[in-house]
Amino acid sequence: MTEELDERVLDGNVLDGNAVGDLIRNELRECIATLEDEGVTPGLATVLMSEDPASETYVSMKQRACEDLGIESFHRELSPDAPAEELFDVVDSMNENPDVHGILVQMPVPDHVDKRRVLRSIDPAKDVDGFHPTNVGRLVAGDARFKPCTPHGVQKLLEAADIDTEGKEAVVVGRSDIVGKPMANLLIQKAPGGNATTTVCHSRTADLGEKTREADIVIAAAGYPELVDGEMIREGAVVIDVGVNRVDADNEKGYKLVGDVDFESASEKASVITPVPGGVGPMTITMLLFNTVKAASLQEDVPVELP
Ligand code: NDP
Repeated sequence: MTEELDERVLDGNVLDGNAVGDLIRNELRECIATLEDEGVTPGLATVLMSEDPASETYVSMKQRACEDLGIESFHRELSPDAPAEELFDVVDSMNENPDVHGILVQMPVPDHVDKRRVLRSIDPAKDVDGFHPTNVGRLVAGDARFKPCTPHGVQKLLEAADIDTEGKEAVVVGRSDIVGKPMANLLIQKAPGGNATTTVCHSRTADLGEKTREADIVIAAAGYPELVDGEMIREGAVVIDVGVNRVDADNEKGYKLVGDVDFESASEKASVITPVPGGVGPMTITMLLFNTVKAASLQEDVPVELP
């Protein structure tokens, strides 16, 4: 990494996800220009079947990010009471639409919709979340087509800060299908950004602190506010905070967002640490754009140089 880049992404020991995201988005713009030269506009379809304000916000952020980059946005909203078959019909029509290169069904879906069937219903070639069993299998086998956006974003953050994972002790806190498991899978791959000796912790881990204190790299994705504090990390560790938790606060909104890491105490010991907000969050959306551009490039057979 050049000194100039260094200054833009690292402020002291704080790794800026907005800055890294911007650098990647700028490179994606060039990929999109190459696609446009061949008459291809990448397209992302978002499908929302929820009135949950957080889900609505996530979807509109994704749409705005697409528009900003020149990715065409297709959007369908269904009532949470609609029959499940309506959702599957929408996904089918997106699968068949040649202008749509990526499809994202915003989770969670209502209880009467089989979530696993939703994941399986998306054409794996358009599955830009990377959650279809075919894409999960490819990731595990070391032949990823679409890396899931959040763990891929973490990998890019580490890369941008010149943190080599090879030979390092990494601890991932959390084993969900969308963050913890794919994160661990990326870290153990015999590939750049991998080759780490990786431990996965979860709610049944007997002594979490004992594990995290051994780690060169701690990636917290538990959804538990400020779970990992300065006492739980070793001096000089790299700390990546995936968590986004709403906690009560004495402000206008009545709440604030905090991560899974107690930033104040952990930042005193960490060599590099990501903030919340402004760390992993912007990277997740950036890597969704990355996967959409990749999907368009593969489907339209127009090679691009992905960042
Ligand atoms: P899940 O609730 O699906 O999974 C949480 C995982 O953490 C589970 O494996 C759980 O263990 C484990 N866990 C919970 N509490 C503890 C604890 N006290 N000690 C150790 N392990 C614990 O969450 P997600 O993976 O979907 O998300 C994790 C966090 O990341 C959330 O805060 C979420 O909002 C955030 N997130 C942020 C994104 C971003 O872009 N910044 C994107 C996606 C998620 P068990 O399996 O035993 O239950």
